[in-house]
Amino acid sequence: MISEFELIRRYFTHRARHAVLGVGDDAALVNVRRGCELVVSADMLVAGRHFLRDADPYRLGHKALAVNLSDMAAMGATPRWATLALALPEADTRWLAAFSRGFMALARRFGVDLIGGDTTRGPLNICVQIMGEVPRGAALRRDGARAGDDVWVSGTLGDAALALAALKRRIRLTPAELAYCAAKLDQPAPRIALGLALRGVARSAIDISDGLRADLDHILERSGVAAEIELAALPASRILRRYLDRVAARSALLAGGDDYELCFTAPRRARERVVRSGRRAGVALTRIGRIQTRVRGAPRLIVRAADGTALRPVRGGFDHFR
Ligand code: ADP
Ligand code: MG
Repeated sequence: MISEFELIRRYFTHRARHAVLGVGDDAALVNVRRGCELVVSADMLVAGRHFLRDADPYRLGHKALAVNLSDMAAMGATPRWATLALALPEADTRWLAAFSRGFMALARRFGVDLIGGDTTRGPLNICVQIMGEVPRGAALRRDGARAGDDVWVSGTLGDAALALAALKRRIRLTPAELAYCAAKLDQPAPRIALGLALRGVARSAIDISDGLRADLDHILERSGVAAEIELAALPASRILRRYLDRVAARSALLAGGDDYELCFTAPRRARERVVRSGRRAGVALTRIGRIQTRVRGAPRLIVRAADGTALRPVRGGFDHFR
């Protein structure tokens, strides 16, 4: 049996580039750059709830960090440091090797140092804390949207949720379609470059982890505004488009999570700059609607169908979809 000490040394001790002191002491030491704020977030993945017990460990390592990086992207932050708290049912060295390879491959790609954590025996549970930097006052927050702002999203929406629906046998995809959508589900690409490019351009931002409807609503709630978006304007992959006559696909588009795209708002006059930000980040951006003044008693978010009628939001989707 491998000892806890040996396990940490073998799989989780890597040279830190942006830290004074990394793994190995009672705590790590970091310096935040002059003029920057420290951006901190944590996301936990629980076996049986966020992933299957027998999920591929390499992909799990990737995803555990990716969902955290996505929060840095949504803040417009440069990710720098992460800690990893792991509960493991057993010290399975093959599992650990693959998990740490998946985690570290993404960490290196984004210049993130793994600077500490905790390892204990227990039901499989992965908790990552991520820390980054943003110039003082420049973070993209949820509370900055103003009436008249355009609402934008990056990439395409709903592919990950479509894969999940297929895995749960709610919809049938061809093997090639499932492979494409499952890659979005397992290996989300955090939009770090886009978050950075949107600093000083977007007024508010959030990453889409729970579905567009729910996450855009967080912006509306925090900003004290309302919004109207158009169903037909939502960016969908060619695969999702093919199944748009199916409830599962339509709900995936509006209410599916796990895409980890960014939803953000920006003033009309910034349209050109938004488009340039997308180009610089290499991500397609789509304008899907408009922020409006909040009217008491009126719904906060209106989704318009192609015929102009409003879809009524219900738990987990829209009643239009039933
Ligand atoms: P302590 O008893 O002080 O909590 P530990 O023995 O738990 O120390 O950890 C020793 C060192 O290894 C610490 O620097 C800790 O941050 C690091 N560490 C423990 N588990 C992990 C992990 N899964 N990933 C990265 N670093 C870890
Ligand atoms: Mg410890």
